[in-house]
Amino acid sequence: MKVLHYKNNNVESEIIGRITFNKSLFTHRNECIFILRKSETLPAFSNLYRGILTEENLSISVKGSGVIEDSSEYHEGDIVLLTPDGKATFLYENGIDSNVLFITGKCNQRCLTCPQPPVNKEPDLTNVCKEIIKLAKNPTYFGISGGEPTVKKEKMIEVLRLLKKKHRNTAVTILSNAVRFSDTEFCEKLAAIDFNELQVDVPIFSDIPSIHNELVGAKNFYRTINGIYNLAEHKIKVGIRIVVNKLNYARLPQISEYIFRNFTFVSQVAFMQMENKGLAFENLDKLWIDPSECTASLSKAVRMLEERQIPAFIYNWQLCLLPADLRPLATDSISPWKKVFCKECDPCLRKNDCPGFFASNINMHSSHITPFGMYNKDTEIGFQSI
Ligand code: SF4
Repeated sequence: MKVLHYKNNNVESEIIGRITFNKSLFTHRNECIFILRKSETLPAFSNLYRGILTEENLSISVKGSGVIEDSSEYHEGDIVLLTPDGKATFLYENGIDSNVLFITGKCNQRCLTCPQPPVNKEPDLTNVCKEIIKLAKNPTYFGISGGEPTVKKEKMIEVLRLLKKKHRNTAVTILSNAVRFSDTEFCEKLAAIDFNELQVDVPIFSDIPSIHNELVGAKNFYRTINGIYNLAEHKIKVGIRIVVNKLNYARLPQISEYIFRNFTFVSQVAFMQMENKGLAFENLDKLWIDPSECTASLSKAVRMLEERQIPAFIYNWQLCLLPADLRPLATDSISPWKKVFCKECDPCLRKNDCPGFFASNINMHSSHITPFGMYNKDTEIGFQSI
């Protein structure tokens, strides 16, 4: 999540509010954090807003106020959590399609590639999810994530029911290891909510149970498989995600074969690079492989799926590392606040349509990054043709 800092004047406890620049807003003021730009004056009844952030250091007696450096980072409709330690955390960004409801940080696995290690203790996060749902204006998409969101089964269902009630047309993707979906009753409850667009994205690390189990830190391979079948039986769409790493890259074609043989019903398969954070960072020696070494295996795996009419995508993969025929499948899936480029990218003519890098990967990326463009004889930089 994007986190900015503000100077706390009198935010005494956590405030969640929807950002507004609208002075004439009359109803719903008590849901909003008002942003006062430089040289503007406070509207009447400003004490009715949930909070006020000003670009100038004004002394405002209204409760829940603070000072920000630059209002351009805030947008009408964003939902922000202000905490007394001076952090403004963006729980929802208006206009982006990667907003997430974070159900829990707990998990029933310990995946070696996990960028966000599971927690043992935490406060109940579902009230925050519910508040985001209530405050969001016409959200087109929500991801449901964790940890493993199904660890809090009942809470997750409660949040999803509210989401359906408030925003009936919002598309939803649940990112889950599917272990708990081996419980038929749970699948029934999820299906009964009857979203217009619902997909459960499930990571499969290998076609070989022992490799999958090693990578998820639990003997869950067959539970996950049962969960996937249960979801399909309840007519819930399933996507498969494959995080490519040193332990599984050589068998990507076999994983595609396994998916085709066992899950012909899946709506898509996404191959993705690892985010080098959290447990993935701790396990880099074991897991890291230069993505350029995976190209042959990745190409074969993608082609096999395409021949069999299963849509394949490639997430967070730099365009210059892909052969020309795979580039159209590269999907810009990194949230804007954590997407970066390295210095080799500066002259690249395809920077605008390149998925880029996770910020955490910038010091450990492929040594084959080659910008697209024309050969420059002054700098002698080698480019690849577009
Ligand atoms: S050089 Fe271009 S294609 Fe390669 S990673 Fe950078 S921006 Fe993307």
